[in-house]
Amino acid sequence: MSQPDQSAEAPKYRRVVLKISGEGFMYPGERGIAMDAVLHIARQTYNAAQHGVQIAIVIGGGNILRGAQFTSGNSCVHEATAHYMGMLATMINGLALQDALESLGCNTRLMTAVRTDGVAEPYIRRRARRHLEKGRLVILAGGTGSPFVTTDTAAAQRALELESEIILKATRVDGVFSDDPEKNPHAVLYSELSYDDFLRQNLRVMDHEAITKCAEYNMPILVFNFRKDGNIENAVLGQRIGTLIHE
Ligand code: UDP
Repeated sequence: MSQPDQSAEAPKYRRVVLKISGEGFMYPGERGIAMDAVLHIARQTYNAAQHGVQIAIVIGGGNILRGAQFTSGNSCVHEATAHYMGMLATMINGLALQDALESLGCNTRLMTAVRTDGVAEPYIRRRARRHLEKGRLVILAGGTGSPFVTTDTAAAQRALELESEIILKATRVDGVFSDDPEKNPHAVLYSELSYDDFLRQNLRVMDHEAITKCAEYNMPILVFNFRKDGNIENAVLGQRIGTLIHE
């Protein structure tokens, strides 16, 4: 990365995990990768990093493929294979994001939990920390490297092992609502929620497995809208956007 801007406002957090779903890489209703959308996220991330915060980005793959698509009884693809296909989809997104960030002048590293020597470094916790300490934006692809979970769980796992202070979960809506805001206009946006309330109300913004892991270690999660320009920066500055899920 170009050096952090010394005159920039101090960030609230020293180190964060930013979870970006594959849907951030496409336009609503489409599939695949729209580089304009990737650049929009890259620019916001670059601006956030200028405040001196260390950012590890856990990338999803849902714009290309989710393992669950193949779970119907008549699929000849084994469920575990389907999940590996999903993990490889996150690699494709990681490569696109890396080039988008580097086109803006960021110094990046792409690391993966599924070995793909030649395109990305294997994920090694200590090496990831070192990259972060050197001011590199670290993109974490391949999820956890194990099937049957999602990249939300990977975000929880990496946040804990990299000693992130928070997970910033970028979504296409403003935060956690009492109901699906895209279907119910009366859905209420929560500004804060406890882990227990999230689980009790069976809210769907983030995987319950990931929330449970965060609850166990008291890792806060900020759910916010990445489509609003400047929101990734607002999130690292600690501005009151979205929904904070905590103890
Ligand atoms: N996946 C997996 N293990 C992991 C992470 C992901 O098996 O640790 C697979 C899973 O099938 C998942 C797909 O990769 O559906 C893509 O990830 P995800 O659905 O989390 O992407 P997002 O919804 O964030 O775009």
